[in-house]
Amino acid sequence: MPVPYPRGRFELAQQVMPLFNGLVDAVAADEAYLEGTLGPAALYDTFTGRLLKTLQATRAARAALREAGREVVLGVHRSDYMLDEPSGKFLQVELNTIASSFGCLSALMTRLHLYMASRLPFLEPSRLPANPTLEHIPDAIAAAANAVGFREEGGVVVMVVQPGERNAYDQQWIQLGLWERHRLRTVRMTLGDIAATAKLDEAGGGTVTLQTGEPVCVFYFRAGYTPTDYPSEAEWAARKLIEQSNAAKCPTVAYQLAGTKKIQQDLARPGVLEKFIRDDRDAALLREFFAGLWSLDPKDVATDPGVAAAVADAISRPEAYVLKPQREGGGNNLYGEELRDTLKAGGERLSAYILMQRILPPANRSVLVRNGQWSESETLSELGIYGTFVRHGNNLLLNEQSGHLVRTKTSTSNEGGVAAGFAVLDSPYLLD
Ligand code: ADP
Ligand code: MG
Repeated sequence: MPVPYPRGRFELAQQVMPLFNGLVDAVAADEAYLEGTLGPAALYDTFTGRLLKTLQATRAARAALREAGREVVLGVHRSDYMLDEPSGKFLQVELNTIASSFGCLSALMTRLHLYMASRLPFLEPSRLPANPTLEHIPDAIAAAANAVGFREEGGVVVMVVQPGERNAYDQQWIQLGLWERHRLRTVRMTLGDIAATAKLDEAGGGTVTLQTGEPVCVFYFRAGYTPTDYPSEAEWAARKLIEQSNAAKCPTVAYQLAGTKKIQQDLARPGVLEKFIRDDRDAALLREFFAGLWSLDPKDVATDPGVAAAVADAISRPEAYVLKPQREGGGNNLYGEELRDTLKAGGERLSAYILMQRILPPANRSVLVRNGQWSESETLSELGIYGTFVRHGNNLLLNEQSGHLVRTKTSTSNEGGVAAGFAVLDSPYLLD
């Protein structure tokens, strides 16, 4: 059964998605801000540090592309929320700017629940919102490919995947959409494959060609978000090659950094979001979705009474907070006793963590089906709204809300990943 959600709040979350897309674009463009904000975290988090180094090492090549009018930016984002029962609001868990997955399988869930609604009199199809991921995600990738020059010069999309990729059946729908809707071919490659076979023409405008001689129009990442995706220097060399190329990258290193938890926390500080979103009403609307977020940089804890109070409160009531490192992919957060012990131990290394208000979603009773087995349990759900964004230089080509995802997990589990093994795919059911 789909999960009941209040229609007004759901539609508001759809409505703000283009603002979140624009926010990512604005934050990513301010590299001094990214470096300044992520610098202390990077001292204790070598992965973030390495991304920052790649940003610096590719600055000249990227500036040259921009000046030549060849900068093409592609965003496929997913903003994740939980309905917070005490406030009645959807509060943002995180904003994903890299490898935002499950869009396609989620559209299949919508079909499944629509089918169920056709059979079961107590489910109304009109309460299941449209979920256009299968069209929007390939269309955004194709728009970026065309801006790079696919129509004139041909080329392929490279989907950057993990070795032994397990999420291939979500990804395959994007490949199918690219072919059926745009006659665009996809080549699946790991960062290691790219390092071994792709060539960057540095003198000739940054075109990357594959062994077949085909130019790459778009690098679409479904890997590269976690340190284990870079087992050797070769993978970092591939990342740098991609970053210097004239292909559209989803994401650029700057977009990836703009999606870190540290940036999410910093944007929530008074006045920071407002530097990037100039319209007061838009900024206020985005802030409706912000949970309490605090820096754990010892400097901030020492100088900001609000931060010190939150840390003290988290030590006495750890169940009201989540402690997050700069990681993606699920299973990395600290809760309860572990959270308390880490905060109590203190120290500079906490600069690489953020403290977050624990969102308290309403519990539902659900039937979950996994591996062909059903079980009934008390569950919590998390909503994701997809956004697509394409910009060619100063020309905004596309900025849209592009569908949704609901993941449901048993209420005893802290984490929410489907691929990580904690949750199942679900659908929203809108109540007025
Ligand atoms: P990741 O990048 O690993 O996906 P998330 O920030 O999405 O990191 O956290 C993973 C999971 O932890 C979420 O899907 C959610 O189930 C839970 N979680 C994260 N933050 C909160 C929060 N503030 N309140 C309640 N649960 C949270
Ligand atoms: Mg997440």
